[in-house]
Amino acid sequence: MSKEKVILTGDRPTGRLHIGHYVGSLRNRVALQEEGDYKQMYVFIADAQALTDNMEHPEKVRQNVIEVALDYLACGLDPSKVTIFIQSQIPELCELSFYFMDLVTVSRLQRNPTVKTEIQMRGFESSIPVGFFTYPISQAADITAFRATTVPVGEDQKPMLEQATEIVRRFNHIYGETLVEPSILLPTNVACLRLPGTDGKAKMSKSLGNCIYLSDPADEVRQKVMSMYTDPEHIHVQDPGHLEGNCVFTYLDAFSKPEHFARYLPDYPDLEALKAHYQRGGLGDMKVKRFLNDVLQEELEPIRNRRKEYSRDIPAVYDMLRAGCEKARAVAAQTLDDVRKAMRINYFDDRELIAEQAKRFAE
Ligand code: ATP
Ligand code: MG
Repeated sequence: MSKEKVILTGDRPTGRLHIGHYVGSLRNRVALQEEGDYKQMYVFIADAQALTDNMEHPEKVRQNVIEVALDYLACGLDPSKVTIFIQSQIPELCELSFYFMDLVTVSRLQRNPTVKTEIQMRGFESSIPVGFFTYPISQAADITAFRATTVPVGEDQKPMLEQATEIVRRFNHIYGETLVEPSILLPTNVACLRLPGTDGKAKMSKSLGNCIYLSDPADEVRQKVMSMYTDPEHIHVQDPGHLEGNCVFTYLDAFSKPEHFARYLPDYPDLEALKAHYQRGGLGDMKVKRFLNDVLQEELEPIRNRRKEYSRDIPAVYDMLRAGCEKARAVAAQTLDDVRKAMRINYFDDRELIAEQAKRFAE
C-alpha cells in the first residue's frame, strides 16, 4: 500500500442525494474508504457553491446540509476514517479562490462545457451570477487546499478537474512547486458515469426533479420505477424493443448483479439474455421494471434503515460535522501558509524581504 493518496470529493446541498450520486461517486467512496489505501480522505458539503445558483433560496441550502450528511452516513461513510466537513466553514478556501482568479481568463471559463449546459438549464444566459460563472475556480481551491491527488466524481466533473490542473500548473510555474496536481477517478462501469434521469433526460440531477432519492420510501421508489421512461416505440409486448436511451436498462447496467437473476428472475441467466429477449420482442416493460424495482429495493433498503437510525440523533450529526470542519480547517490553513510563502506575500515573516527593502532605502 502506497498511502500516498489524498482523496477528496463533495456534493452540493441542493437536495437529498440520489442514485446517480450513489453509482457516480458515493459507492466508489465507500469502497475506497474500506480499501484504506490513502493518507487522508475528505468528503465535503459544498454549501457555498450551492448558493451560487440558489442565492434566492438560502434556506433550501441550509436545510439540505443535514440531509446530505445523513445520506453520507447512511451509505456507510465513516467519520472515524473520513473527514466530513462543510465548505463555508473553511474561509481559507475563499482566499485561495481569490488568488486563483488571476490565473484564469473569462474566455477559458466560457469554454467549460458543463458550466455551459448548467447555465442553459438554469436560464442564466442573460444574467449569470459571477459566483456561479467562477465556481470551477472555487472548486480548484477546494481540491488544492487539501492537496488532493484523487477526486472520485461523475463524468460531468471532468472539465472541473481539467481547470483545476491548469490552475495548479500555472501557479507552480509562476511561484514554484507548491500545489499538487489532482487526477479524476471515474466509475469503471460506463452506465455509472452519468446516470440518466427517470424521464430519460441526459442526467439525473437534483435541479431537474428526475431523481430516485436514496431516502425515498419503498413505495415511492416503486412508483418512480413503474412510470420510468423506456422505449416509446415499444408499444405492444411482441414489438422489438430498443436499448439505446432506455433508462430502465441503463439502471440495470448500473445496479444489477448476476445473483439478482437467480433471486428475482430465474428464467434469465443474466442481463445479456434479458436484453436480447427485449430486442427480439415478446418481453414487456412491466416485467423488466418489476425486476429493476426488486434490484433497487434490495440495495436501498439498508441505506434507508441506517438513515433512519442516524436521524434519531441530529445534534450528534452536527457534532460530527463540527469536528470534521475543525480538522479540515487546520489542513487548509497549512496549505495557505505555503501559498502565501510561495507568493511572497507573507511580508511580516519574511526577514529577508524586510532586510532587502531596508537596504534599498538606505542606499
Ligand atoms: P445539482 O443539480 O444541484 O448540480 P447534482 O445532482 O448534479 O446537483 P452534485 O452535487 O452537483 O449533484 O454532484 C455531486 C457528485 O455526484 C459529483 O461527483 C457528480 O459528478 C456526481 N453526480 C451527480 N449526478 C450524477 C449522475 N446523474 N450520474 C453520475 N454521477 C452524478
Ligand atoms: Mg451538479
